[in-house]
Amino acid sequence: MQEMKTFRCKDLGLACEFEEKAESENELIKRVEGHVQTAHQMNPEQPEVQEKIRKAMK
Ligand SMILES: [Zn+2]
Repeated sequence: MQEMKTFRCKDLGLACEFEEKAESENELIKRVEGHVQTAHQMNPEQPEVQEKIRKAMK
């Protein structure tokens, strides 16, 4: 069984209960991008935003 990658907004220091899981880092970042854009007005195309998200993944 493949290990799931997990992302939580809390790990970005946000007061948000959003949590997402996916089978790969790339799949997970795709799912998280939509959320951070609409809920936190972050631009996922910015390299520093991408980096923050990747670092917060477990
Ligand atoms: Zn959030």
